[in-house]
Amino acid sequence: MRRGIAAFTGGILLFASLLGVQMGSHATENNVETVVPARQNVQIPKSVYRIKTKDKVAFITIDDGIYKTENSLAYVKANKLPITAFLSAWTIKNSMEYFNEFTQWGSVQNHSATHASFAKKSTDLNHEICYVQKRFGKQYDWYPWMLRPPYGAGQDSQAVRKMGEKCGIQQIVMWDASVGNGKISYADSKLRPGSIVLMHFSKSLKKDLKLAVKKIREAGLEPANLDDYLPRVNNVPTMLSSPKFSVRAGLTQPAR
Ligand SMILES: [Zn+2]
Repeated sequence: MRRGIAAFTGGILLFASLLGVQMGSHATENNVETVVPARQNVQIPKSVYRIKTKDKVAFITIDDGIYKTENSLAYVKANKLPITAFLSAWTIKNSMEYFNEFTQWGSVQNHSATHASFAKKSTDLNHEICYVQKRFGKQYDWYPWMLRPPYGAGQDSQAVRKMGEKCGIQQIVMWDASVGNGKISYADSKLRPGSIVLMHFSKSLKKDLKLAVKKIREAGLEPANLDDYLPRVNNVPTMLSSPKFSVRAGLTQPAR
């Protein structure tokens, strides 16, 4: 009987894990320990597709950073929207101020150095993940703790999780809905509490943002800050807070 219960519980955890559902920090640790014991050496959990919460919230995440439109920034500021920006290092250029304003109710996170697929064996994960951590910390005072793999590829591979962990990543974030070119699509038929919406810094971002907010509110939800639901564990990743790196990079503690 006991074995049956254990198998049932394991089944639920496995099911949740397959869905990529975040079950709270303690349950997530359990997922890692009980569902994938072979990966006990990797501390960061598998990727998150939707936050497990009863709060009536959804999360707007915007990727890449190629187009930096002023009308989308104005819309975000007028509505005080919490935005999680997953930026690729090569798209930043001299736009720190733009992204700081864009994410003033959210945060800037890691979306790789060159947007190479993490699923390709030839991809240099150290460069794609760790270079961004160092460069963002050194040049922009951004200390990402969330990672979104380009194309959503290789998101649960042990190599990606290990490299992420080494460089201060604590969560790998996917999505369960996306908005682009004035259309919304769902992984699971509709928005639910904890839904994570994927968008891009495109020319049509303002239009897409308006649609996302409309659809989120129609679902009885409100945009919320992903940072409040997937907070970082430490202020500064260990890799960046070591005295050696701080001296070399002239780092100070980030204000946020
Ligand atoms: Zn991307």
